[in-house]
Amino acid sequence: MNKNAVCVVGSINMDITVSTSKMPKQGETVLGEKYRTYPGGKGANQAVAAARLGSDVTMIGAVGDDVFGKHLLTHLQQEGIQMQGVEVLGGVSTGIANIIMMNQDNRIIVAPGANQHVTPEMIEKKKHIIQNSDIVLLQQEIPMRTIQYVIELAYESGVKVVLNPAPFQPLSKSLLEKVTYITPNEIEAEAINITQQNVRIQRKTIITLGKSGVQFVNNNGEKKLVPAFLVPVKDTTGAGDTFNGAFVSQIAKGASLHHAISYANAAAALSVTKIGAQTGMPSEVEVEEFLN
Ligand code: ADP
Repeated sequence: MNKNAVCVVGSINMDITVSTSKMPKQGETVLGEKYRTYPGGKGANQAVAAARLGSDVTMIGAVGDDVFGKHLLTHLQQEGIQMQGVEVLGGVSTGIANIIMMNQDNRIIVAPGANQHVTPEMIEKKKHIIQNSDIVLLQQEIPMRTIQYVIELAYESGVKVVLNPAPFQPLSKSLLEKVTYITPNEIEAEAINITQQNVRIQRKTIITLGKSGVQFVNNNGEKKLVPAFLVPVKDTTGAGDTFNGAFVSQIAKGASLHHAISYANAAAALSVTKIGAQTGMPSEVEVEEFLN
C-alpha cells in the first residue's frame, strides 16, 4: 500500500467560456468576443492541484466518448494523474460548464453529462483504488448517493476522507461524522449550519474565507484563523480547488493539520495571482520558494 496515495473521486468538465460586452436578452443574439476552452470540474481541478504538489494521484470519474473527453483524458495524464479509474462512456457527453463572462457578471450553466453516471455501482468495481489509498478527496459534482457510498467505504476501510461540500447539497449528520475533514467555504459553512453542529463535526471543519484566510479548530478545541497571504490578485477562480488539492497532498504526506492548512493557504494564494483555475495552480518548488 502506497501511504502517499491520493484518490480523487469527482467531476471532469470542459469549461467553455465566451466573453461579451453585452449580455443577450431573451430571444436576442449578440456577437461575443473571445471563446476559449479550459479543462475544469472540481474533481479534476483538485486532482491537478495535488499532482502538481508531488502527490501520487489516481482519479475516479467518467467522461463521454467525444472530443472533449479524449482531450481531458490526455490532459490529465500529462499532469501525471493516473486515469485507470476513469471510464469513457459510450453515448454520453463529457460534462461541460458553459460560462458567459461579462465584466463581473458571469453566468454559468453546467451540463453534468458523464459525471452523473459516476454511480455507486461504478465505484464498486474500482473500490480497490480507494482501499489502497491513504486519503480520498470528494466534492459534490457527482451524485450524492455516490458520495455517501465512497464516504462509507473509506470509513470502513480505515482510509481518510476529505469532503469539499461544493456546490452545496444537504448532508446527514451521520455522514459528516464519518468524514475526516470537511472544507466548506464561508457560504457552504453557513448552509451546513456548522455553528449548530456537534463539537465533533465542528472540530473537523476547515472553513476557507477567501481573502480573509482559513478558520479551523486546533487540537485543544480552540478556533484559529490562518490569515491569507497578501498577493496581487488576478483571478480567484480555482482558489478553493487549489486549497483542497494542496491540503490533501500534505495530509497524505503525514503533515500536521496546522502545517497542511498553512501550506494549502500558500498554494491557494499563488493560484489567485494567475488567470484560470488549473493554469494558476503552483508546483511544489513554487510553493517552497514562496514560503522561504
Ligand atoms: P472558494 O474558491 O471555494 O470560494 P475561497 O474563496 O474561500 O474558496 O478561497 C479558498 C482559499 O484560497 C482561501 O482560504 C485562501 O487560502 C485562498 N484565497 C482566496 N482568495 C484569496 C485572496 N484574495 N488572497 C489570498 N488568498 C486567497
